[in-house]
Amino acid sequence: MTPHQVLNQVFGYQHFRPLQNDIVDAVIAGEHVLALMPTGGGKSLCYQVPALIRSGCGVVVSPLIALMQDQVETLKGLGVRAAFLNSTIEYAAVMETEQALQRGELDLLYIAPERLLQSRTLELLQQVPVALFAIDEAHCVSQWGHDFRADYLRLEVLATLFPHVPRIALTATADPSTRQEIIDRLHLGDGHQFVSSFDRPNIVYNIIEKKDARKQLHGFIRRSYLGSSGIVYCASRKRVDETAAWLSDHGINALPYHAGMSTDERQKNQRRFLEEDGLVMVATIAFGMGIDKPDVRFVAHLDMPKSIESYYQETGRAGRDGLPSEAWMVYGFQDVAWIRQRLMESEANDAFKRVEWRRLNAMLGLCEVSSCRRNVILDYFGEVVTEPCGRCDNCLSPPETWDGTQAAQMALSAVYRTGQSFGANYVIDVLIGKVTDRVVQYDHHLLPTFGVGVELSVLDWRSVLRQLVAKGVLRVDMNAHGALKLTEDSRAVLRGEVTVALRRDRELAEGSRARKPSSRLVETPAAVSPQDKTLWDALKALRKSLADAKKVPAFVVFNDRALLAMCRERPVTVAQFMAIDGVGPKKCDEYSAVFIDEIGRHSQG
Ligand code: ADP
Ligand code: ZN
Repeated sequence: MTPHQVLNQVFGYQHFRPLQNDIVDAVIAGEHVLALMPTGGGKSLCYQVPALIRSGCGVVVSPLIALMQDQVETLKGLGVRAAFLNSTIEYAAVMETEQALQRGELDLLYIAPERLLQSRTLELLQQVPVALFAIDEAHCVSQWGHDFRADYLRLEVLATLFPHVPRIALTATADPSTRQEIIDRLHLGDGHQFVSSFDRPNIVYNIIEKKDARKQLHGFIRRSYLGSSGIVYCASRKRVDETAAWLSDHGINALPYHAGMSTDERQKNQRRFLEEDGLVMVATIAFGMGIDKPDVRFVAHLDMPKSIESYYQETGRAGRDGLPSEAWMVYGFQDVAWIRQRLMESEANDAFKRVEWRRLNAMLGLCEVSSCRRNVILDYFGEVVTEPCGRCDNCLSPPETWDGTQAAQMALSAVYRTGQSFGANYVIDVLIGKVTDRVVQYDHHLLPTFGVGVELSVLDWRSVLRQLVAKGVLRVDMNAHGALKLTEDSRAVLRGEVTVALRRDRELAEGSRARKPSSRLVETPAAVSPQDKTLWDALKALRKSLADAKKVPAFVVFNDRALLAMCRERPVTVAQFMAIDGVGPKKCDEYSAVFIDEIGRHSQG
């Protein structure tokens, strides 16, 4: 079969996405490949299709053992002979899988790195034809990264033991130094690199100032995402527990997830999140890599992530099915202080801390920018973009700006005159002329700058200071307890040689304007056209009962995209059903009768 035939006849898709085709061809030709694609970009097909075409079994190395079962179930649902090996499997099942492998009865084998590296497994694999090695989440080889796995370093033996088997490394981590590390560590030599655009066009970005985080979140969910699945990220376990409880008390079905919970509880919540519709998972970043749920409609941050990389990775968990989704965040200076403190307390060396600090400042820059946010993100990952995207909050309703030159001068002079040794709150006290014990202790109530800024509120000043930091006119000293300090660029502002345009804080912004991005969500399941709504609900219920009977998540039966296509196209014959993108022969055999029946019932009356 050709790759295209496999795509149609096994996976039920009509077309390869950009790059998938090239990657598949290269791997089939036996080349080593590094594939970088954003989450939801369609990495799996890049090794699944070649594994079915090349002779032998495709071996997929993945650290995400919690996902293997679903991945394998999904493949079996397509008629692919797949199995997995990891520490959760019992001995008898291991034997069965090993024998199937030896008999040449497996197309794909998912395996945890530590299991693969056991000499017994390596010996076994040397006795059978191996179609390819796919190394998923390949950035785990990077010792600088947060997902580092020591076992991943040892994967270099694959190059020695299986010199003629193509290796395909896959990751959604964009950063160029990680890319090089993967190539070196896995000995990909001068194999092909395929880097797809990291843009996630179906995700709308929305970032606003933090006022009352929970209330803002509640408003956001109520407005557009009641009954949708979503993830809410918080910076601490305590905040996770509180937020999940608070949301539940306020009519939103929410579950907590963090590393302080027992493994059982965590797994139970993760399972429910995967299988049920419309649950909100409130989590720390422990709820991380490889959340393979395609229909997450929003990712909300109640606290600012520590870098654009983290932000992008976390928000990337929204909308893997390609349907409209939203990344929403509230942030404030307190986030910077909190991250700084944790960084200082960490054991990491100074070089690492400096790098992290720069990353944090870039993240703050993304929050404060008044131009297209998507472009800032893509630019950060080295993509050249020119046009504003039209699908972020700043594009949809450009923020107002004001001439903040004078305010900036006041702020800089307050920082200077208080000796560059205080944080934002103290500097604001001086600016607005608040007499506190501390201010008096340092005689700062006697400064000429004391009280010069009464015209602006504390919130306004916070916004001014944040923006000055984001612009590099001020900096937060990582070492000196987060004190604000002048920079090389401060002088020109103080002398009035440059003007400073500042963006106006979005007063209760999320009420009026955040509605806009959502109203553009043309295909969101919540926006299934009224005449399709009952059919949509019925198909979802049918999918759920089929999935429950098989004890698999709903999307293993069909994903939302396929259901949506069924609502739109209302197939009545098997041939029409088969033509739906996402319906292959196996699923057609299995499900066409019940689905056509259900669709028929809704189309007559
Ligand atoms: P990731 O890159 O995050 O691993 P997946 O491989 O899980 O992404 O693919 C994400 C989604 O896109 C899945 O639901 C998958 O079935 C779908 N998909 C991938 N390739 C295609 C294609 N060529 N046509 C239609 N859907 C596709
Ligand atoms: Zn934009």
